[in-house]
Amino acid sequence: MIPTSIDKFVASYIKSNPKEKRQDIIIQLKAAVSAKQEGTLCSQCGQQIWAIGTAIAGWNACFTCLTGEADDSGDFEIDRVC
Ligand SMILES: [Zn+2]
Repeated sequence: MIPTSIDKFVASYIKSNPKEKRQDIIIQLKAAVSAKQEGTLCSQCGQQIWAIGTAIAGWNACFTCLTGEADDSGDFEIDRVC
């Protein structure tokens, strides 16, 4: 995955989803990143969760369960909270 920060991800996410509230996304992302750091696992298959996908989908999900794809090399993941 391509590492990114919450700030960078939110900026591009809001650009493509202008109706979403910036502050809500940030809160959800922070919660998902801390859940991942605490070792939360995908509720479907038990793999490590994808913080961005979990934040947007609203359930503890890994990349494959959420997207149906195995290759995550072109997708972003938050690697730090700030
Ligand atoms: Zn999964």
